[in-house]
Amino acid sequence: TARATAQPLKNANELIDSVETFIFDCDGVIWKGDKLIDGVPETLDMLRSRGKRLVFVTNNSTKSRKQYGKKFETLGLNVSEEEIFASSFAAAAYLKSINFPKDKKVYVIGEDGILKELELAGFQYLGGPEDGGKKIELKPGFLMEHDKDVGAVVVGFDRYFNYYKVQYGTLCIRENPGCLFIATNRDAVTHLTDAQEWAGGGSMVGALCGSTQREPQVVGKPSTFMMDYLANKFGILKSQICMVGDRLDTDILFGQNGGCKTLLALSGVTSLSMLQNPNNSIQPDFYTNKISDFLTLKAA
Ligand code: PLP
Ligand code: CA
Repeated sequence: TARATAQPLKNANELIDSVETFIFDCDGVIWKGDKLIDGVPETLDMLRSRGKRLVFVTNNSTKSRKQYGKKFETLGLNVSEEEIFASSFAAAAYLKSINFPKDKKVYVIGEDGILKELELAGFQYLGGPEDGGKKIELKPGFLMEHDKDVGAVVVGFDRYFNYYKVQYGTLCIRENPGCLFIATNRDAVTHLTDAQEWAGGGSMVGALCGSTQREPQVVGKPSTFMMDYLANKFGILKSQICMVGDRLDTDILFGQNGGCKTLLALSGVTSLSMLQNPNNSIQPDFYTNKISDFLTLKAA
């Protein structure tokens, strides 16, 4: 069913009073790359002083929640590790939630954040950055071996992606029909720099979809896994959550899939004209320029 067209946020107090939890996307809402977005510390302080629970969810799997904790601290934000849920953490949490056996192994196509989270959760893994320099030499009759104890392949954004990793992950999945195929996220493009769009985690995931002809279990936004996990962990009702993000196909869909209120912040990758483009079917409840508008938008 079609949703109503997004409304500009006019009365922030009414929105703030209507929920008990705010889930904030990170890049494009809290920071842009390594730069804090204007007015964020004061906005978070105000929401905390009004008793709101704050949760931070990012699809960027390259860091662990501990590494994100340091990033928040460096930016001068008062956020604890326990409030941060990256898609790297989500991959480990998902494996825990399905009781993935500790005597099986996880093959990782992705960066350090995923390895750190798997380690903390007590899972055995292989791959990751270590496989970044590996090459396959195709001599006649060459057969690539793979570890038969791999029971899951986790794929995330990987700047060291190569054919070795694709072939290894493909063997794990194709030769073992029970092997899980998990994607941290499927973002088509990301904004590593402001200069242009860069191929996102979805590009690495797409390679494995192509070779395995399987669809992955996505654990990051917009999949419902993290939302269910958060609602369960904190004992919160989804109708009492406002999801705030800058991206329609990840953040806003994530909120809508969960039955939450949604607010689009125009401080990231989505412009007002993109929101209002007739080809766009994803309409948040509200939109505003940046979250510090919470400090100034009062009822007329
Ligand atoms: N994945 C990568 C590799 C990124 O660099 C980014 C943003 O910088 C994202 C995903 C999206 O992150 P978020 O969900 O915080 O917007
Ligand atoms: Ca974002």
